[in-house]
Amino acid sequence: MSRSTNKFGLVDQPKGQLAAALRRRKHELADRFAIPHDLLAGSLSLSHTRCGKTSCHCAEGEGHPVWQLTFMLDGKKRVEKIPPEWAEDVGRRVQAGKEFKDAVAEVCAANARLLGLWRQQTKGRRR
Ligand SMILES: [Zn+2]
Repeated sequence: MSRSTNKFGLVDQPKGQLAAALRRRKHELADRFAIPHDLLAGSLSLSHTRCGKTSCHCAEGEGHPVWQLTFMLDGKKRVEKIPPEWAEDVGRRVQAGKEFKDAVAEVCAANARLLGLWRQQTKGRRR
């Protein structure tokens, strides 16, 4: 296999257990994640609020549930109110978004480590 024609370049060159494990893991992640169309950023939180009507049941209890999606946009914190009936679906999409971001970060970090491993393994063999 020629180095110049290797599809994935330097990151597929290093040998050894760590390199193999990093590659296995990142390929597993990359194959698992075609980019889903419905990912959500941020975090979903639940709080309770009282509407103020003395006749309302919330005057006694913990209040009406208020779901909020908090996320960053252009460096600023944004909050979207989420209807209670959306909460389960939104929560699932937020979790999927987090897993996707984590996977991308792990693939990128693994490639950076593989680059370092390959440099070490070729020390003294480069012209
Ligand atoms: Zn109320």
